Amino acid sequence: MKTGPPNSPSAAAAVAALCPACGFCCNGVLFADVELQRSDDAARLRALGLRLAAKGGKQCFRQPCPGFDGRLCRLYAERPERCRTFACRLLQRVIAEELAPAAALRSVTAAARVAGRVRDLVRALGETDETLPLHRRYARIMAQPLDFAGDESVLEQRSKLMLAVDRLAKRLARDFLT
Ligand code: SF4
Ligand code: SF4
Repeated sequence: MKTGPPNSPSAAAAVAALCPACGFCCNGVLFADVELQRSDDAARLRALGLRLAAKGGKQCFRQPCPGFDGRLCRLYAERPERCRTFACRLLQRVIAEELAPAAALRSVTAAARVAGRVRDLVRALGETDETLPLHRRYARIMAQPLDFAGDESVLEQRSKLMLAVDRLAKRLARDFLT
């Protein structure tokens, strides 16, 4: 995650226009986990429902984030530091007035459609654990050996999934990652 939006009215307007339609930085599409910062109160965040874990000598909370309600952050007033400061590339460009909000929203809508397609295929292929980030569910499917003598529809779904993941990864890299 990158240091992000200034607390200006235009930044708040950009967040309001884009983020409720997206949620990628909360729902396990962009990240598997987020590091806690010095100013974060780990005990309080745990009490609020975040799933904390140790990682490389630091603490992080896992994504998909239990604080995300599908559109908004349920613990907005008490959200961790990284959540307060993060802005994806798309949001940064809108705040900097390099990109019109309507164009950014079209990018969000297109990426959300592809992410939804990936999620549907992942579920159809048996990875139904919604507490895992999307890329980990995909990796679990791809770790399973291919059975060319087995159900053809499974092979077909796997190749559709690979294509959809490729599309999603390209969109995320181009529009959202910094
Ligand atoms: S990925 Fe960007 S647009 Fe999407 S919710 Fe996060 S900050 Fe907002
Ligand atoms: S605490 Fe809120 S802003 Fe941070 S990842 Fe969770 S839902 Fe998103």
